[in-house]
Amino acid sequence: MSFFDKMKKGVTDAGSKAKTLVEVNKFRLNIQSLEAEIQERFKKIGQSVFESSSDEIGSEPTLDQKAKGNIVQFCQEIRSRQQEIVELNKKILELNHQKNCDKCGRLNQAEVKYCSECGHEFTQVVTIDVVAAQTTTESTMITCWKCHEPLSQNDRFCGKCGTSR
Ligand SMILES: [Zn+2]
Ligand SMILES: [Zn+2]
Repeated sequence: MSFFDKMKKGVTDAGSKAKTLVEVNKFRLNIQSLEAEIQERFKKIGQSVFESSSDEIGSEPTLDQKAKGNIVQFCQEIRSRQQEIVELNKKILELNHQKNCDKCGRLNQAEVKYCSECGHEFTQVVTIDVVAAQTTTESTMITCWKCHEPLSQNDRFCGKCGTSR
C-alpha cells in the first residue's frame, strides 16, 4: 500500500469510527428515554395502589378490577421496554466489536473464539476488518505463549486458541 493509499484509508477509518460513535450515542439516548418511561410506570403503579386505599388510617389498598387492569398494563409496558434496552445494549456491543461471555458475562472482543476470563468457547465468532484488529493489537502488549496472539493484561485465557496463561 502506498503512502497516499494509507492516508486515504486513515481518513475513511476515522470517518467510520465517528459514525459508529454517533450510532452508539443514539442508542444510549434511546436507552435513557426508555429508562425514564419505565420509572414513570413504576410511579403510576405506586399511585394506583395508593388510590385504592381509603382516607382511613391504616386502611389496606383494595385493588379493584380497574386498578389491577392498569397495573397489569404498566407491568407489560415496563417489561417490553426492558427487552428493548437489552436489544439496544447488544447493538452497542456489536458496534464496539465486543460481546459478553454467555457463561461468566465478561466483555470480550467480538472476534475471539474463547472467553479471556473463563475459557468458554464461543459458538459464533465474528470476523472483523483489519482496522479493529489493529486497534486490538495496539492496546495489548502480552502475547499467548502458544499461538502468539496478543492478550490483554487481565486475560486469563487466549481468545484465539483457548490456552490458559
Ligand atoms: Zn467467560
Ligand atoms: Zn493462543
